[in-house]
Amino acid sequence: MKIVKIDPSLCICCGTCAAIAEHLFEMSASEGVAVVKVDQGKLASPEDEDLASECATACPAGAILVQDAE
Ligand code: SF4
Repeated sequence: MKIVKIDPSLCICCGTCAAIAEHLFEMSASEGVAVVKVDQGKLASPEDEDLASECATACPAGAILVQDAE
């Protein structure tokens, strides 16, 4: 299983990730950055892993990290 994380110090709040995968990411009005919606960032399917990787590639700030779960 893989997990996805967002580094809030890098996020420039462009909205790209939430536009590509609205079930994985959302823009947080309170935090002012994008946040991961799924529990502990766990990606439940190969499709979600691919989608999260696509978002990581598309993120202009390099703020999205997809990694193997420990
Ligand atoms: S694509 Fe990257 S910079 Fe844009 S909102 Fe998502 S995490 Fe932030």
